[in-house]
Amino acid sequence: MHRRALALAIFTAFLFASAVALPPRRTHYDEPSIDSEGFYEPSESPRPQPEAVPPDPLVLARQLACEPLVTRSFVQAWKATLNGTRGHGLAETGFAIEKYKSSISIQGWIGAAVNDLLIPTDDYTVAIAHVHGRGADERPADIDVRSRVPNFVISQNALYVTVPGTSRVERIRGGVDESDGWNRPCSTGLAIATR
Ligand SMILES: [Zn+2]
Repeated sequence: MHRRALALAIFTAFLFASAVALPPRRTHYDEPSIDSEGFYEPSESPRPQPEAVPPDPLVLARQLACEPLVTRSFVQAWKATLNGTRGHGLAETGFAIEKYKSSISIQGWIGAAVNDLLIPTDDYTVAIAHVHGRGADERPADIDVRSRVPNFVISQNALYVTVPGTSRVERIRGGVDESDGWNRPCSTGLAIATR
């Protein structure tokens, strides 16, 4: 009887000891180690999913231009140049569009008497925008195209945007008097669906 009780006690102690021994082993797995790094070697394991297609920069630019805050800021910038007439139509006003997490804000409002504008940017700047008045070429200038972020150019007859890293310039919305003018809210997918 005694021997059996002793054996049971030893067995229980063994179970207890192995249960206690388990948690440190588990935390070892959770921590990055030389062993676990091997799991992330692309050559070791095939990628579970095909590489994501990079989003079309023009689709992203259009989405940004359709943000109500951004559309309102285009209008504000245009008004600041007296609808493109200030300084014999050469004055510029511009701003930076910043994104932190999912919220968008407008920063760095700046104006210039002639078309010579340097908009301050930082790590959160996702795009910049400025006016080309009625006395200037409405299309983005060479210096505008060199921007490291999409550069919106607001004018009487169009909204252009540059594609960073390329010489591409696209007209993404119409002028102030058009139904798809940059100064109007964008029609949403929902609105089209319910029409
Ligand atoms: Zn410009």
